[in-house]
Amino acid sequence: MSHVFPRHSRKIPPKVARGEGPFLYDQSGKAYFDGSGGAAVSCLGHSDPTVIKAIKDQIDTVAFAHTGFFTSEPAEALADALVETAPGNLDRAYLVSGGSEAMESALKLARQYAMEKGETGRRHIIARRQSYHGNTLGALATGGNMWRREPFAPMLMDTHHISPCYAYRGQQDGESEFDYGQRVANELETKIAELGPENVLAFVAEPVVGATSGAVPPVEGYFKRIREICDTHGVLLILDEVMCGMGRTGSLFAYEQDGITPDICAIAKGLGAGYQPIGAMLCTAEIYDTIRDGSGFFQHGHTYNGHPTAAAASLAVLNRLTKDGVAKNVKPMGDKLKAALTDRFGQHAHIGDIRGRGLFIGVELVQDRETKAPFDPALQLHAKIKAAAFDGGLICYPMGGTIDGKNGNHILLAPPFIMEDSH
Ligand code: PLP
Repeated sequence: MSHVFPRHSRKIPPKVARGEGPFLYDQSGKAYFDGSGGAAVSCLGHSDPTVIKAIKDQIDTVAFAHTGFFTSEPAEALADALVETAPGNLDRAYLVSGGSEAMESALKLARQYAMEKGETGRRHIIARRQSYHGNTLGALATGGNMWRREPFAPMLMDTHHISPCYAYRGQQDGESEFDYGQRVANELETKIAELGPENVLAFVAEPVVGATSGAVPPVEGYFKRIREICDTHGVLLILDEVMCGMGRTGSLFAYEQDGITPDICAIAKGLGAGYQPIGAMLCTAEIYDTIRDGSGFFQHGHTYNGHPTAAAASLAVLNRLTKDGVAKNVKPMGDKLKAALTDRFGQHAHIGDIRGRGLFIGVELVQDRETKAPFDPALQLHAKIKAAAFDGGLICYPMGGTIDGKNGNHILLAPPFIMEDSH
């Protein structure tokens, strides 16, 4: 018996034995196609020699040095490369160990920036229902996934949630997609007015919503209106690209496709592609300089900030995606996959919507295509689909979402970018 504390204590998964390309193998030799990259992590598959060599070389040089004492070549090179590739005026990269840490860092940076500007009243975070921003308490409080929040509700800071931009569920009869987007974006302005603009710190959103709703992209114009509202009221725009970033949607940063730039952006998952645990928070020069010229100290930190080995792995991943052009496969392969799914399942009695961008695709399950009624959560449909797919050698990411407080179901697909037609 193992003493590992597993997430599901009554359902222990098999031991992974090895990984090769887009496949993982268990100890019996059974192959699993990693159709969701775990949880949208393994964008390069499982045996990329360039990334593995970069890790080995870095460990041979120096595995770790605490950022309280040293900076390092890979951390600096990674920060420079991220800033260079991020559209807009993101100017600094703060390296952490994962997505939740990136989001915690973003929230605290926003607050400290407001304080150092003398806007000490700014404290409220506004986010959206149907969102997930991580499992640590600050990130969990920001997210709008009721199922994940519920047990910890008494421990969560006060946050405010507006409607998501989820056309399949929210667009009304006779309303254009654009008008729908403007209507739900304008909820932000109403909420800011309600709280008092001088009290609002930031608006937080995933450009393409991942785990909670299944690859839901925004409609045209939505984020432009959001950016406008944030600018009008001096509210920071924090984009959570932990899942949808790093080329997953067909552009290195998902927000590129919406014609806006954030003040702060969180990335993780594909950043290390699973080869090392790493996340990053990027922010503008205005934010960084205010703190540098003010207290000169970001009142936040983690032991593994700027971890040299993780940074070296991530730099190699980024080079594979950009310089080697692996990310270029995302759009054409994503279009093919979506077309194949639509062809095969588009008229299925229990599939309401097939959507997404790039290799970030969601399939929404409904009891009834006409009424869009979700399945009864008691059926635990997502768990059954996950188990059946796994038995059949496919790793996918089915989830019970939250549709107006009730559980809905979707299957998230986020296969490695090295996927080929045969897969
Ligand atoms: N933000 C988003 C959008 C995510 O999808 C996730 C994880 O799924 C997180 C944050 C948290 O990241 P991590 O699990 O690395 O802490």
